Amino acid sequence: MPEEVLTRRDFLRRICGICLNFAFLSSSTIFFSDRKAHSKTLLNNSFEPSYLRLLTRNELKAKAEALWEIMESCELCPRRCGINRLKGKSGFCRAPGATLMVSGFSPHFGEERCLVGYGGSGTIFLTHCNLRCVFCQNWEISHLGRGSKTTIEELAEMMLTLQKLGCHNINVVTPTHYSPHIVKALEIAAKRGLRLPIVYNTSGWERVEILKILDGIVDIYLPDFKYWDSEKAAKYSSGASSYPELTKKAILEMHRQVGVAKPANDGILRRGLIIRHLVMPNDVAGSEQVMEWIAKNLPKDTYVNIMSQYTPLFKAFDYPEIGRRITRKEYEKVVLKAKKLGLTNLDIQGFQWLVKSKSKEEAIS
Ligand code: SF4
Repeated sequence: MPEEVLTRRDFLRRICGICLNFAFLSSSTIFFSDRKAHSKTLLNNSFEPSYLRLLTRNELKAKAEALWEIMESCELCPRRCGINRLKGKSGFCRAPGATLMVSGFSPHFGEERCLVGYGGSGTIFLTHCNLRCVFCQNWEISHLGRGSKTTIEELAEMMLTLQKLGCHNINVVTPTHYSPHIVKALEIAAKRGLRLPIVYNTSGWERVEILKILDGIVDIYLPDFKYWDSEKAAKYSSGASSYPELTKKAILEMHRQVGVAKPANDGILRRGLIIRHLVMPNDVAGSEQVMEWIAKNLPKDTYVNIMSQYTPLFKAFDYPEIGRRITRKEYEKVVLKAKKLGLTNLDIQGFQWLVKSKSKEEAIS
């Protein structure tokens, strides 16, 4: 065999490669062992999710079955399509009959700080949606249904995997039309050791009758309160004119079940209500009225996340009044109003990056 000639450049390249490999292996060992240790810490704390009580009384199974039966003439959400999903029919949400579809699952670090902590929020993105907003940022998942068919067993495994990864909660995103599947999977996962709180990450447009079935299952409700005005709701969310009326009722029921969100000493939230409100351009959301309603109907320390990240996506450009981002002034106005009303538990996002004054586009309104 010819003798290998090692040039100075090759030598340096190999040394660099060895160093990089070593650095990667060490850091990944530290990372994964750290996550394992963290996961154990989570399970050792004194928190017990509500659903465990239902599990021991065999009520979790009964609730899952009650929700499942509703799909026979589906009324899981305010659309109340009445179609038989158990026979493969699809309603307004376009969920394929009783088949569950999941777009992805992973620790998520972009949610509220008390949900993210240091291990992340264990998000499971479910496909399709009963609201279908024209400005949806996840339109490929919610409108097009991009995802994979998933069994209940696999959904349970996802929950357990997120727990193993050290997440602080199981955050089911757009859960309404898959609530029967979620509760069925939860029963399996809880029997196998799941101990994380369930975050019900919803548009807020829920039927109180269905929420009552979820009583004792969900520890953290995370609803949006998108619109004050029913005409606006209908215009931007596929005719959902009952959105303001039903969302108010739903939020009151959620608060009745889980109360005010109070993070524990470690900063992690394990029970309570977080309301999200997305400030929209030209006050399309009716933000000040939304704040007024919260201040009047819920405790002043209700956790309200006033969100500044509205971005015109998907079909938003078909509606000139929502075809831009909000201005700093628009955001500040809502925050000042909320403070003036005495709301004390506000999650105020960074808004320095928002434009200061009215842009040319804003003049469209
Ligand atoms: S969950 Fe889907 S099928 Fe059922 S009522 Fe709502 S939109 Fe219709």
